[in-house]
Amino acid sequence: PKTPRERVDVLVIGGGQAGLAAGYFLRRAGAEFVILDERRRGGGSWQHMWPSLRLFSPARHNSLPGWGMPPQPGTEFPTVDHTVDYLRAYEHRYELPVLRPVRVTGVYDSGEELTVATDAGTWTAGAVLSATGTWRAPYVPAYPGTADFDGTQWHTASYPGPAPFRGQRVLVVGGGNSAAQILAELSTVAETTWVTRRPPRFMPDEVDGRVLFDVATRRLSGAASGVSELGDIVMVDSVREARERGVLRAHPMISGLTDRGAVWPDGAELEFDSVVWCTGFRPALRHLGPLRLSRERGRIPTEGTRSLEEPRIHLVGYGDWTGPASATLIGAGRTARTAVSEAIGGLGRKRPNAA
Ligand code: FAD
Repeated sequence: PKTPRERVDVLVIGGGQAGLAAGYFLRRAGAEFVILDERRRGGGSWQHMWPSLRLFSPARHNSLPGWGMPPQPGTEFPTVDHTVDYLRAYEHRYELPVLRPVRVTGVYDSGEELTVATDAGTWTAGAVLSATGTWRAPYVPAYPGTADFDGTQWHTASYPGPAPFRGQRVLVVGGGNSAAQILAELSTVAETTWVTRRPPRFMPDEVDGRVLFDVATRRLSGAASGVSELGDIVMVDSVREARERGVLRAHPMISGLTDRGAVWPDGAELEFDSVVWCTGFRPALRHLGPLRLSRERGRIPTEGTRSLEEPRIHLVGYGDWTGPASATLIGAGRTARTAVSEAIGGLGRKRPNAA
């Protein structure tokens, strides 16, 4: 796609599930649009996740708008490969105009239009939907001693599967689904210690990830406040099996790392060969830097999906702050629909603060 200075009404950055859902609604609205994605192949960040990962709800509850995820033979909770296949087929089915690999380096205000600079030329657009996810911005909390640790440190985003950990002493940090599934897997080949900031909250065995979506939706409408009483961790088979082996026991958070291991607030120390930080992600928004939009805890202030300071910018995906469960397959569609209708509705309208 060496097409410098091409113009479209709407430009979508990112061709993962959120960008594809946006593409579906843009196509349906007859908009002139393009989706730019820096990866060589479709499937967004799913193609980089570890092979044993299981989605936390059955296939039909992981569906983008228009066409549901087909069930995966032999397993209720789909695998990563199945998810990637679905996203690629979805892109193909709706003939979404995704150009790859094209990396967006910056979005600029060029007056009437937004200019989108990439490593394959420059586009201009009336509106930009940012759907770049969080995978490129892994978050590791700051603890004393992390630079001194002689072992290896990993993050959910770099977790390679269990092979390199065989026979090791491994510290797993974090209280969410990633930590629980990684712990479950590692504890079959390594001696694991699990630490969380507060006691982990397991969902009842009979409940799956569908309720996370329901709770996020109810919270938005004011019907539920605070965190879910149901828990955070979905008891997929591997996690249930780890509980039966007695390894699903969390300890209080460490106060820091040492050269050989970790130390706790009461002075206790343990030695480790590796630490796996399952401590989450931040929105990957560096490409919006040139617009100098303000940030609150890494997020751009929005009303719904639209940036408050630059209404031609719309954020799709990323998490509940752009729409209930917008970072999940089932939630991406609703957020994308809002963003597309606002983006198209705002086309040609001047910025409120423009002269
Ligand atoms: P991504 O999938 O990351 O796609 C963004 C795309 O944008 C990528 O292809 C990237 O290459 C591209 N991009 C980024 N920056 C640029 C740039 N500057 N220029 C051009 N292209 C760019 N969700 C569920 O629904 N069910 C689950 O069971 C579930 N389990 C999960 C388990 C784990 C361990 C993790 C980490 C996440 C899980 N999620 C689950 C959430 C889900 O995987 C992610 O939230 C989802 O992949 C986000 O989709 P996205 O389209 O927003 O971003």
